[in-house]
Amino acid sequence: MADCLFCKIIAGEIPSKKIYEDDICYSFYDIDPKAPVHFLVIPKAHITGANQVNEDNSSIVGHIFAVIAQLTKQLDCGDDYRVVTNCGKMAGQSVDHLHFHVLAGRELGWPPG
Ligand code: 5GP
Ligand code: ZN
Repeated sequence: MADCLFCKIIAGEIPSKKIYEDDICYSFYDIDPKAPVHFLVIPKAHITGANQVNEDNSSIVGHIFAVIAQLTKQLDCGDDYRVVTNCGKMAGQSVDHLHFHVLAGRELGWPPG
């Protein structure tokens, strides 16, 4: 998608602190971290949000969760971390390209604000 911030990050047109990349997904540190460890994992396919996940593309989401399990180990998050995807403006989605926040390194309150 020409006008999508995260598609531009995947393409290398906007710099990012990359953690991991494969054919299906890309992972990089959030520019405005909300926890000592805060990174994003995004599909390379431009899916606008969680509400666009369907039977045809849901294997991408499964793959992303497997990558998250691997990266949290690699980054020494232990088994204590949170995975979040905000869908829609009311839930705080500011970039319309599906992304999973991974937060770790501090106690995380519940429910979120
Ligand atoms: P959302 O608010 O849509 O759930 O999450 C978008 C996230 O992308 C935010 O946490 C924000 O800090 C992050 N973000 C926005 N622009 C950039 C950028 O240019 N580079 C990086 N690394 N993160 C960004
Ligand atoms: Zn995109």
